[in-house]
Amino acid sequence: MELQDQVAIVTGASRGLGRAIALELGAAGAKVVVNYRSNQQAAQAVAAAIPGAILCQADVREQAGVDTLFDAADALGPLAILVNNAGITRDTLLPAMSDADWNDVMETNATACFRTCRAAALRMMRTRSGSIINISSISGLRGNAGQCNYAASKAAMIALTRSLARELGRRNVRVNAVAPGFFQTEMTQSLPERVIDEVKKQIPMRRVGDPAELAQMVRFLASSRASYITGQTFVVDGGLTA
Ligand code: NAP
Repeated sequence: MELQDQVAIVTGASRGLGRAIALELGAAGAKVVVNYRSNQQAAQAVAAAIPGAILCQADVREQAGVDTLFDAADALGPLAILVNNAGITRDTLLPAMSDADWNDVMETNATACFRTCRAAALRMMRTRSGSIINISSISGLRGNAGQCNYAASKAAMIALTRSLARELGRRNVRVNAVAPGFFQTEMTQSLPERVIDEVKKQIPMRRVGDPAELAQMVRFLASSRASYITGQTFVVDGGLTA
């Protein structure tokens, strides 16, 4: 298996895309740190399904949470893979957007990504290997009405990815982003049925994505099969932005 015994952190792995990514990296042999914020039961089930996985409750919005997460990973061995997946939305049109809506989203999606990337970079520079994968969004590439905060946070992740790839390339550490389109998770389930139907009509493949389909891309980028790929953003969206 291509990730045999490699230590991988997946943030927000209790459900949705993070769950699918953790399971996929686990299936490739990785020792996964399954991070969650509050949904312990769900996260426990994910960890139980992956041989060698450990569970780690930590709020990545806090530096203390990031420290807890990396301490847990360090106990398993040298860190090989970081997947920044934890994310939230607080959608509303800009005139109605509160400072809290803006700050919550920026802190959870962008600032947490900065802090976890910093912690991972320090470790991976020492071992001169590693793959960081930041889960952005097509909103971060093209914007989306009602998501000024979310789109800005996801665009920040892409710019961070590119810059860090330039910093770490000569140390053999790769940094890439994945921009999902519309996937079936709790984040999207809360949208009204008519909105989901409308989006489906705009997707050339006429369906929303299965989280396992996104996880395949992450598994590839984490592996040595992607050994010459860094600083890129990979769109996985059934053709929505084509
Ligand atoms: P989701 O179903 O809402 O799951 C979010 C995950 O993030 C949960 O595991 C949650 O943990 C965790 N989380 C949230 N805040 C956290 C924090 N402060 N610290 C640690 N964990 C935290 O979301 P999803 O749809 O799977 O999305 C996953 C990622 O993909 C997000 O970054 C999202 O922006 C991005 N994305 C999703 C789509 C889509 O169509 N679904 C499209 C584009 C991009 P708890 O369960 O413990 O709360």
